[in-house]
Amino acid sequence: MRTAVVTGANRGIGEAIAAALAARGLRVVPTSREPREGFVTLDVTRADHVAALAQKVAGQGGADVLVNNAGVSLDGFDERVVRRTLDANFLGAMHVTDALLPSMRRGGRIVMVSSGLGSLTGVRGEVRARFEDPRLTREGLLALVEEFPRDVAAGVHERRGWPSSAYRVSKIAMNALVRVMARELEGDPRRILVNTADPGWVRTRMGGRSAPRSVEHGARTPVWLALLPEGGPTGGFFRDEHAVAF
Ligand code: NAP
Repeated sequence: MRTAVVTGANRGIGEAIAAALAARGLRVVPTSREPREGFVTLDVTRADHVAALAQKVAGQGGADVLVNNAGVSLDGFDERVVRRTLDANFLGAMHVTDALLPSMRRGGRIVMVSSGLGSLTGVRGEVRARFEDPRLTREGLLALVEEFPRDVAAGVHERRGWPSSAYRVSKIAMNALVRVMARELEGDPRRILVNTADPGWVRTRMGGRSAPRSVEHGARTPVWLALLPEGGPTGGFFRDEHAVAF
């Protein structure tokens, strides 16, 4: 039986992704930031939680699917909000992925739940050029992302090409990570595919009541990426089961 780990599975789109994968016959390991019956406790910003999850999943033979769904959209905009947002949405997803990757099984699928706001149109000038650089490395990406809170604190972020949105940058960075990871995984005999999804605007606590999409609709593309057949795409950005421009 294939095993799928879904972060932030206690509500919203993550809950719908977990239900859809279970309905497709996968054994789902749902995770929740707060302790909850039947869930593995995982605050993606906590190294001890991430390590405990990785140990547990490795002990069960490794995961076939990882869906990095957990995310926040915080009010306000200052260095603190930026750091907290990057920690949860970008670094959290990266650390969970890095921790589960060593035990991931052949044919593994890694899915990031990103956003249309992760589009590169959110950044300008040199910052955009660096995100877009096809030679961008993991170190280069981390160094670039670290410049954002520093530029915000120094009051120069707009001049340098960053938006005044921590959420946008966190998702732009998540999307860039997918491109970097797809290259890192080239040549890995397990043929793991890593992709990122825009679920659309979805009725959840984050999306609000006026959003046009149900959680089941928002879950569709992440679930489709989680179940891609062998030889499927990697390093791509998808909405409604179609590739879209980064
Ligand atoms: P939601 O209902 O607010 O759910 C967010 C989930 O993430 C909750 O389970 C939450 O846990 C969890 N979470 C937040 N911070 C966490 C952390 N540090 N560690 C572990 N879990 C954490 O929002 P949603 O709309 O379902 O969002 C799911 C994903 O879709 C997010 O990545 C979001 O950015 C993305 N997205 C949503 C929309 C939309 O319109 N709704 C659009 C584009 C992208 P708690 O219950 O403990 O808070």
